[in-house]
Amino acid sequence: MMGDPDGPLPTVTTQGFPDADTWLDYARRHGFRATRSERLMRCPECGSASYSEIGQYVHYSTLSKLRLCKSCGVAYSDRRLSPDVMRAHFERAYKDERYFVKQRSRVFEQLVVLTDRCARRGGRVLDFGGAKGHFLAAVQRRRPDLKVTLIDISESACRWARETYGLEAVCGSLSALKRVAAPFDVVVMSGAQRRTSRGPATFSSRGWFTHCLQAAGS
Ligand SMILES: [Zn+2]
Repeated sequence: MMGDPDGPLPTVTTQGFPDADTWLDYARRHGFRATRSERLMRCPECGSASYSEIGQYVHYSTLSKLRLCKSCGVAYSDRRLSPDVMRAHFERAYKDERYFVKQRSRVFEQLVVLTDRCARRGGRVLDFGGAKGHFLAAVQRRRPDLKVTLIDISESACRWARETYGLEAVCGSLSALKRVAAPFDVVVMSGAQRRTSRGPATFSSRGWFTHCLQAAGS
């Protein structure tokens, strides 16, 4: 078993577990499988390599450490799962209505109040990673004067948002930003995962918000 390149030990070792032997039982019980991921060596916000560890969690067989950047204070995970894995994850998770109607309802209620407070009359709201539109539909119920736009990576979620709530929904990740007309008065990112390690998808929040928000925006 130990010599098998596809066995549990090599899988556990490559999934970020430093003391793989002690995790073997856990890995077997939970059916660990090799999952593609990349490791962040620096803060995705400011590029600093200085951090303190504040926790860890296991997701898709991968051990992720939660770090707090000592330079800018952003909390981030040191692992980015492959975009394919995340896309498939959201396609599945989005099928579960209870997740949006029950589990997320308190967060949505709070964000609706905040959005109401921040958005001027007739203003524009963008929900980046807006899933099936439950949150934006609640915003529209409270503030019918606002013009709302949703961006999400899941094609089926965007279709749902259009057909169920009549929302403007654009499918994609960061590249989808080019297809919506900025600026916005309020940008919400409650369900979004930023992909910030490197490459063309890299962006900083500051630049991103400057792109999205009006000068008087929130
Ligand atoms: Zn930082």
